[in-house]
Amino acid sequence: MKIIQKFMTRNDCYQANEKIVPKGILLHSTATPGVMAHEWYDMWNKSYQKGEINRKVCVHAFLDDENVMQYLPWDHRGWHGGGPVNKTHIGIEMCEPAGIVYDDKYGSTIIEYDVEANEEYFRKAFKNAVELCVMLCKKFNLTEENIITHCEAHKMGIASNHADVMHWFPKHGESMGSFREAVRKALNND
Ligand SMILES: [Zn+2]
Repeated sequence: MKIIQKFMTRNDCYQANEKIVPKGILLHSTATPGVMAHEWYDMWNKSYQKGEINRKVCVHAFLDDENVMQYLPWDHRGWHGGGPVNKTHIGIEMCEPAGIVYDDKYGSTIIEYDVEANEEYFRKAFKNAVELCVMLCKKFNLTEENIITHCEAHKMGIASNHADVMHWFPKHGESMGSFREAVRKALNND
């Protein structure tokens, strides 16, 4: 896993310079098929307050099958969960491969997905996400138990109602349980 640091200095979250003590990691996936990690820089390195972008949004990192792009210092308050979770959790977005077709009506319901074609991409991105979470757990004294995904955070009442990443992981036989288990194994050298 290679981390490329390129802070979104125009983004309001960066400008606000509000610090957090990370208590966990919130894992997202983008629901934007085919837009890879490095491409989000130009899309989101903008100020909502100055009207350069139509939503207030910022995460700490985007990752894909190749790289992790770190866009915000890990201890800055991000804006990715639509709730109190922003003040406690590091936000990570996993980029989704091209070719996924979503139902417009529900936004996060996938209606067409080629498992075989996406398997290699998924495995590499999943591995990068595990490695990044392992690194962050070590850095901030967290465990796999502190890693949640957006839909879990919603059920806990601390984030907006999104389906990620559980609309995607099961297509490849994974879940947040198996994700946490992979992080646990790496943390404990099992
Ligand atoms: Zn999300």
